[in-house]
Amino acid sequence: MLNILIVGNGQCGNRILDAINREAFGKKSRLAKFYSQQKYKSNVQTIAINTAVNDLKEMKFTKAKDRIHIPHLHGVGANRNVGKHVFEDNKTHIMRQIEERGNFDVCFVITSASGGTGSSFTPMLVKELKEKYDFPVYAVVVLPFREEGTLYLQNAAFCLRDIRESGADGIILADNQFLKQMGGNVESAYNGINDMVARRLLFLLDALDSEMMMVTDLGDFKTVMSGGAGLATIGFYEADTDMPVRSAIQKALSPSGLLFSSDVYKEASRAMVIIRGDKERLSIDEISTEVEKLSSSVGHVFKGIIVRDGELPQVLAVLTLESASELENLYSIAVDAIKYERDKKERVATVKDVDRAFSQIDGMDPSY
Ligand code: GDP
Repeated sequence: MLNILIVGNGQCGNRILDAINREAFGKKSRLAKFYSQQKYKSNVQTIAINTAVNDLKEMKFTKAKDRIHIPHLHGVGANRNVGKHVFEDNKTHIMRQIEERGNFDVCFVITSASGGTGSSFTPMLVKELKEKYDFPVYAVVVLPFREEGTLYLQNAAFCLRDIRESGADGIILADNQFLKQMGGNVESAYNGINDMVARRLLFLLDALDSEMMMVTDLGDFKTVMSGGAGLATIGFYEADTDMPVRSAIQKALSPSGLLFSSDVYKEASRAMVIIRGDKERLSIDEISTEVEKLSSSVGHVFKGIIVRDGELPQVLAVLTLESASELENLYSIAVDAIKYERDKKERVATVKDVDRAFSQIDGMDPSY
């Protein structure tokens, strides 16, 4: 049995963590958190951390004892410098909360790259965890909609770099911009994206701790994640009634199955493909053909098969990337955003029009 720690930092991290707990509790009632047992096979501990108490209160499926409020007025206002100070001041408290939960084999830290709390806490938390413990730590990072503004873009660029430098064993990317075709308003897009990330992570945990027909385990996952440029993404597809497993694999690897835009046949470096379903539906020939097709262009592919009676075929693919053209695009617009913010700051510092306007009433009082 694996001991797994999942931390959700900031609003986005908290919400994805809550979606994970909802799935794990089996979508019962709002009261699930008070009485029900999680369905995890592994020993999974979840911790939500935030400076904004309202984000923590919003969580419906995560136990109160697992929601850690770090007081700082009303959050850190997308300012990563403030966030870093707040983390530093509360580091001992946060690390104690983790220590009290025992020993772990693997940890996932979920955050958005672009806000204030999660984006500043995550690299620092990963660094602390890596200094203190031996287990691998993976960051699950949500990238912003590109039109969300200059501060979010610059935060995303610096946050990703900080996480890479923190000693994280890998970064799994999910991209709001790429996934927004889920449609609807922002809130339903968020919920849809959060559910996608949650389902994939739970499937992965299930697979790492499973009696499989063909086994993949935490060791294989670590090998996959150590390939490429330290960046990864996850594909998933659930077949409908008549779909052959071959098509489900192709769909999980196609852009529409991925959390981050990539042509995996060109950009992936290592992969792990896990297929779960009723034995009748899992043609070993079809599975082998598709896996060989992938390995001929990316190199090594680990393959796992989990037999579940009566289940339609579901496919999960973890892929590390050796290049990521979409990330280069993000960085080029982030550079513009950083320059824009810097120029604006310089302008504010030199042009004192507003001060000049105010100075006209220096020494005067209103008369009524
Ligand atoms: P923090 O609380 O200061 O860490 O900031 P947030 O987590 O709110 O970060 C803002 C970024 O996260 C923006 O790019 C939002 O689009 C994104 N975001 C906020 N909430 C969610 C959510 O529930 N799901 C997803 N997918 N993205 C979110």
